[in-house]
Amino acid sequence: PAFDGRDVRLESVSKSFGGVDALREVSFVAPAGRITALIGPNGSGKTTTLNLINGFHKPGSGRVLLGDDELTGLPAERVARLGVARTFQTPAIPGEMSVLDVVGSGRIEAHGPALLPVVLRLPRYWRAVARNRKAAAGWLEILGLGAIAAEPAAAMALGTRRMIELARALCAGPRVLLLDEVASGLDPDELQELAGVLRKVRDAGVTVVVVEHNFSLVRSLADHVVVLAGGAVLTDGDPREIAEHPEVLERFLGS
Ligand code: ADP
Repeated sequence: PAFDGRDVRLESVSKSFGGVDALREVSFVAPAGRITALIGPNGSGKTTTLNLINGFHKPGSGRVLLGDDELTGLPAERVARLGVARTFQTPAIPGEMSVLDVVGSGRIEAHGPALLPVVLRLPRYWRAVARNRKAAAGWLEILGLGAIAAEPAAAMALGTRRMIELARALCAGPRVLLLDEVASGLDPDELQELAGVLRKVRDAGVTVVVVEHNFSLVRSLADHVVVLAGGAVLTDGDPREIAEHPEVLERFLGS
């Protein structure tokens, strides 16, 4: 198959913070080239799961794999270089950068130069930013943001900043795209556009994992759904199965 090496696999992953068990023996596969949605109530461990995949947290036990690559315990910058890109619930966008350069910076995190010049914003960093402008412009066009390329990114409304974040993650050319609440704050038109972009990204072979509260979006977009409750996997399956699961219905879908 064309997309070998892109499935994300958690095997019996546990994580606690102090005395709190955030995740307990969580196992699931996010299949290669598919959109997997992580759903569950607040505090069920969704964000922690993303943080364990992208290397922000180390699991207390268990393994995290991307294809045959072991991600368990690797630092976030190594995971990024293996092709895992991530967006955040609250996009942190440096105030002084243009939309174009924020998007281009996504490639730097994944492909260098090494961390130090990125952190210190040394001249090498700015040269790398300049080299990425063409790729960044391409993604801005795809996301319908071409008209604001030269504007300061931090001045944009929340919905637009979410799309900029998405463009930044895509600009890295990831094997895996992790999205944390990327739809929140988007208007209905932006939601439709987002869904269309994510389908294209998936069809290009990228493995997408989304944490998402909007179940109607999950239903229309996800190929696979993993339901977390209390730090454990309650069930997983395709969206139709999940929507009919009695416990899911009762606990999350308000019926
Ligand atoms: P969700 O994303 O589903 O809302 P989280 O993954 O954010 O859930 O949190 C799962 C549990 O782990 C919660 O009880 C939360 O308070 C706890 N938790 C998450 N991150 C930390 C942290 N850095 N320090 C302490 N506790 C944390």
